[in-house]
Amino acid sequence: MKIFCIGRNYADHAKEMGSDVPVEPIIFMKPKSALVQNFTPFYYPEFTNELHYECELVVRVSKNGKYIQDKHASNYYNGISVGIDFTARDIQIQLKEKGLPWEKAKSFDNSAAVGKFIDITPALNKKNINFSLAKNKEVVQKGNSGSMIFTIDQIIANISNYFSLNIGDLIFTGTPAGVGECMVGDLLEGYLENDPILSLEIK
Ligand code: ZN
Repeated sequence: MKIFCIGRNYADHAKEMGSDVPVEPIIFMKPKSALVQNFTPFYYPEFTNELHYECELVVRVSKNGKYIQDKHASNYYNGISVGIDFTARDIQIQLKEKGLPWEKAKSFDNSAAVGKFIDITPALNKKNINFSLAKNKEVVQKGNSGSMIFTIDQIIANISNYFSLNIGDLIFTGTPAGVGECMVGDLLEGYLENDPILSLEIK
């Protein structure tokens, strides 16, 4: 099982990070040990002083594939959820400055929190999915899939040019603007439309 993540997939987030809007999806990965299931405690990592949340739509791969075309991509995933791409921002900034890989900042244990998966039905308009994150009951991030630079189908197609996709793989599709810090004691809750599907407390 693999976890793929897309960087800078919303123009407003690229802007808040002072980054350019990419012309091809930016792909990075997290290992299986990064996965943290819903309603389990998350412990603030010792190596960072600036832990950020990034709330993202997450899709679940349902069919094995490689070299998938955009027009066939929707056959390769069947579930959607909201997740948090936890990021040690201080470490990431240091690594970026030196041009080094991001793994220490992005792929540590429990850095990929995922909520409950909702089955994707033909009724779901994938270009208009609302999601949000609340911190201590206050909404801090709001996103809509229609604002993605690369659609879910384009992401699937692009990833599959480089990596085989396998049943059960997860794809974090990028965060909208509003990323910020979390502290010990914070309660993070993710919503798909108005449904609470992710809840996690920082210990
Ligand atoms: Zn992210």
